Amino acid sequence: MSLALSAALGALGWTFLEYVIHRWLGHDRRFTRWLFGVEHTAHHSQGDYFGPAWMKICAAASVATIVMVPAAWLVGWAHGVAFVAGLVGCYAAYELVHRLNHVVAPRSRYGRWARRHHFYHHFHDPKSNHGVTTPLWDVVFGTHVRARTVEVPRKLAMRWLVSSTTGEIHPALRRDYRLRTKRKRASAAA
Ligand SMILES: [Zn+2]
Ligand SMILES: [Zn+2]
Repeated sequence: MSLALSAALGALGWTFLEYVIHRWLGHDRRFTRWLFGVEHTAHHSQGDYFGPAWMKICAAASVATIVMVPAAWLVGWAHGVAFVAGLVGCYAAYELVHRLNHVVAPRSRYGRWARRHHFYHHFHDPKSNHGVTTPLWDVVFGTHVRARTVEVPRKLAMRWLVSSTTGEIHPALRRDYRLRTKRKRASAAA
């Protein structure tokens, strides 16, 4: 087995952890009082809240250390280090993708998909689309929803979505997003 394959397996391992941590520690009521659940609830309710970087670095370092020992014992130090590097590297990519989803407008096909996929989770159904970087495990576990148009509550709208001059969604983004306002809800109910 090549070192690159070990690193790729580590990256795949992270995508699985990304799904498991978000689905169960973030949204299963049995665990939402744990630290991750509390932080994740704040992320959902405030929209632009992210846990402190020191907490994420400590968690990543702890998990890397815990995984390193059995990995090195099973496949040797070189492959163990490659596996953990893939895992931690993909975790860092996840943090970046998640942060960019919230703070920067999409600039690529992947970016457009990632935002629709993630904001469907935020604003339509928190039981769907737990993966942030990939839909893989949502498809495997049956929680994948193909997000087409996402309705965003005005008070939680991402800064990149709404024009500061008109207060409306930027024209280029209207094919993917709509603003959900109380007035709209009332007229829909009428
Ligand atoms: Zn988010
Ligand atoms: Zn969530």
